[in-house]
Amino acid sequence: MRFPHGQRKVHCPRCNSAQVYRHGQNPYGHDRFRCRDCHRVFQLTYSYEARKPGVKEQIVEMSFNGAGVRDSARTLKVGINTVIRALKNSHRNR
Ligand SMILES: [Zn+2]
Repeated sequence: MRFPHGQRKVHCPRCNSAQVYRHGQNPYGHDRFRCRDCHRVFQLTYSYEARKPGVKEQIVEMSFNGAGVRDSARTLKVGINTVIRALKNSHRNR
């Protein structure tokens, strides 16, 4: 099966099985998956979303434009810690 955002494996959060398959999308357009082993339905979490290329860059750009951490997190639908981490990394690279 193909995985979104380029990650190689999706694991079931309950039993950690890799036998999961795509099960449509939630209203926000996030992919949902169902585990073949325990039949749990789950969706990719913020941490998966943060790995999507471009989110970090968007966080940095928003901060340049004066957006606060909370604003960026809400707009990009990532966790506040993800925003803080992205900003810290971007400062270190300068
Ligand atoms: Zn499972």
